[in-house]
Amino acid sequence: MNPYWLEGLSPITPPLVGDHERDVVVIGAGLCGASTALALAEAGVAPLWLERGFVSVGASGRNAGFVLQGTAERYSRAIGVMGHERARTVHGWSRDNHLAMAAAVERFGIDCAYQKRGSLQLACAPAEEAELLESAARLVEDGFAAHVWAGTDLPACYREAGFKVGVHLPDDGELQPAKFVRGLAAAARAAGADLHEGTATTRIDAQGAGDVTVHTSSAAGPATIRASLVVVCTNAYAGEILPFFADKVDPVRGQMLATAPAPRLFDCPVYADHGYDYWRQDETGRVVLGGWRNLDPSAEVGTDEVLHDGIQARMAEFLHRFPALRDVPVTHRWSGTMGFSRDGLPICGAVPGAPGVVAAVGFTGHGFGFAFLAGRAMAELVTEGRSDFADAFPARRFLR
Ligand SMILES: Cc1cc2nc3c(=O)[nH]c(=O)nc-3n(C[C@H](O)[C@H](O)[C@H](O)COP(=O)(O)OP(=O)(O)OC[C@H]3O[C@@H](n4cnc5c(N)ncnc54)[C@H](O)[C@@H]3O)c2cc1C
Repeated sequence: MNPYWLEGLSPITPPLVGDHERDVVVIGAGLCGASTALALAEAGVAPLWLERGFVSVGASGRNAGFVLQGTAERYSRAIGVMGHERARTVHGWSRDNHLAMAAAVERFGIDCAYQKRGSLQLACAPAEEAELLESAARLVEDGFAAHVWAGTDLPACYREAGFKVGVHLPDDGELQPAKFVRGLAAAARAAGADLHEGTATTRIDAQGAGDVTVHTSSAAGPATIRASLVVVCTNAYAGEILPFFADKVDPVRGQMLATAPAPRLFDCPVYADHGYDYWRQDETGRVVLGGWRNLDPSAEVGTDEVLHDGIQARMAEFLHRFPALRDVPVTHRWSGTMGFSRDGLPICGAVPGAPGVVAAVGFTGHGFGFAFLAGRAMAELVTEGRSDFADAFPARRFLR
């Protein structure tokens, strides 16, 4: 088990011990927590920021680094599930999220190999081909860019591997996810966020707005923090400390692998089989590939970051469909935990039954499409009392 992006990383800040009083506590240091801590610190509300492991140790440092538009559903299906107006709005949020991330890379000079080369969705079967074409048409109608690549428009490497039709979405991007999140965390700390890694929140007692107690444990001992407001950014793990999320955000495992540097083959991140299979080639030439969860969905649940031998074997086998990759060894294999919300959309804002606590969780496999803006929305809730983004994804929708 060797997550490629996390090699050599460990906590660089001390755990928290003792009794404390703070205005705002942020829990979780993935993309969402880093974005929240940065926005709060820049707004002059430097938070106490707690992380169980180290910055980016969760899904944010284990993913494929795709920065995509939309939810995990293709656009035509998203329209079917949530209605046209809402699907267009949600899609627009994800495009804005990408623009905001790109601006942060620039502004803070984050060295994370960010590129905007678009993404390519490939059809694995005629039914998927029809869905892809329908989605592309609906995207273009709604003002988003999408280009159909068929016949010789589809690069030869995909045709040789048996694919016939793809849709290129030129506004998508990619980056080294752990470096991006760690760059945001460094900016947040420079702006005043007080980060303590190795500090696990064990319980939150929410007596009311202005009166929340956070209990933690660490190798150095326990800590207790009395706070006015607590922001929970623990995605897949939300149900462990907030019972409201236990039956609304499900931990789902995803398998990943990386090869040794390989001949240059793929020009952008690629998605196939309804998004179940995905891969890209990073700046060093390594192919980073993940997915195939649909081979054994009932086993790939829970928060244990274990390998699934059968899925890993099928992933490695798939690489052999590309003749140039047949002799390239797999050097890293790992897994990570996604937080799937029950309706496939993020959950942001006030947590029912926990006054004084807000949360942004449930990013459902596409957190790098939403979590940066979700973090900003959390900061807006703290400083302004409201946020359009949070209003679009309220937790109370599950109470209807
Ligand atoms: C294999 C895989 C591939 C993926 N590929 C992509 C992709 O290419 N593009 C994309 O958009 N999305 C992808 N995702 C999803 C994406 O990584 C997540 O949606 C996103 O990283 C969520 O960010 P987050 O900050 O909400 O959660 P996380 O990154 O999981 O961060 C949560 C943090 O909270 C901490 N924490 C948890 N409980 C506690 C506690 N009690 N006390 C203190 N700290 C705690 C954890 O240690 C963790 O650091 C993928 C996910 C996986 C697993």
